[in-house]
Amino acid sequence: MRRTVKIKLEVEEQEKLQETIRQFKYACNQVVEKGWNEEGLKTYNKNKLHEETYYQIREETDLPANLVTQARDRASQAIKGCVEKLKDGDTVSKPEFTSDSIKYDKRTFSIWLEDKRATFSTVDRRIEAELLYDEEKEYYQKYLSESWNITSSTLEKHSYEDGEPYYLHLGVEKKVERKEEFEEPRVMGVDLGVDNLAVTSTGKFWSGNKLNHQRRRFEEIRGKLQEKGTRSAHQTIQHMEGRENRYSCDTLHRISKEIVEHAERKDVDVIVFEDLKGIREDISNRKKFQEWCFRKLFKYVEYKAKEKGIRIEKVKSSYTSQKCSECGHTTKGNRKGSKFKCVNCGKEIHSDYNAAKNIGNKFLRNGQKSSMRKSHSQLALKSGTVNLNGDYTAYPVTG
Ligand SMILES: [Zn+2]
Repeated sequence: MRRTVKIKLEVEEQEKLQETIRQFKYACNQVVEKGWNEEGLKTYNKNKLHEETYYQIREETDLPANLVTQARDRASQAIKGCVEKLKDGDTVSKPEFTSDSIKYDKRTFSIWLEDKRATFSTVDRRIEAELLYDEEKEYYQKYLSESWNITSSTLEKHSYEDGEPYYLHLGVEKKVERKEEFEEPRVMGVDLGVDNLAVTSTGKFWSGNKLNHQRRRFEEIRGKLQEKGTRSAHQTIQHMEGRENRYSCDTLHRISKEIVEHAERKDVDVIVFEDLKGIREDISNRKKFQEWCFRKLFKYVEYKAKEKGIRIEKVKSSYTSQKCSECGHTTKGNRKGSKFKCVNCGKEIHSDYNAAKNIGNKFLRNGQKSSMRKSHSQLALKSGTVNLNGDYTAYPVTG
């Protein structure tokens, strides 16, 4: 089980840190220049990149050796990501490092939780930072305890923040039995629909407008061509159909990738969908297309999530669109199109977002019957998580 804990930092010697960030970015971009050159070469082989860049970067910067190595690894990873996308048939552009962020490791970073203090290597020497977090908070007590190992540490500067813009993102990991992971998962519900292809319980929306529009146009042209009935019209239809399907698949692939990446960022263990109905024969072409989209999207998410160790689950669809995710009151009158307003508690929320929360919640409640531990399972929302007791925990401070 992995989580990311964000901690605000108070740094006295900010100029040194800022200069280190600048040089680190420079180093990352230099490695990319070598690994992705004008002749079209794309290599993420670390040894090769090391040979070609290490001494040059040591020469040109004041970065300590281990940060140069970290920069190389980061660039190598970015190039690798692009090469994989290319293999998938996606278009990519050369990676460029613009955000203010440095990856630290054990040799360049130390942390003393008991003193709420950390030190970081810089272009000059090590500097110190104070960790600004409330150790009384259950969140920090849990994830900064001995049962969780710190596996990575990234320093980030949030440029929009005044005063203390530096944050430490600690990756923490706990070795758990597969069973335990099932017992207290963090869950994200996903609602699939027409206007919005997908909406998550964390408040992310993926619009279906472009896809639907494109499809409508295609259906119109197809109708006209079918009326013509000539051989060439038939050929044109087939040609268009192929292009249409490729476009739809590409779109759904991209969305599924974004859903899984989003789930990863929210440290989600389980993505929950509603059970899809069997394909019905007696429905319009448009409906058939929509069901085809849902099925594809589900398949793509399932495939990509598995690679990341995220589980996919389904719950039965019943009343998820009429039920209030806040108080549980269920009636048709709660919902008017995309607007959901609970007649009982007055909660107003986008209908699809409400449904996504219900889907996640439904899975958590069902789990109570099995070995899942109610108090530890959580539904991932936009700005925090909530368990079935209604206890809300905000995500760690972000900018
Ligand atoms: Zn309500």
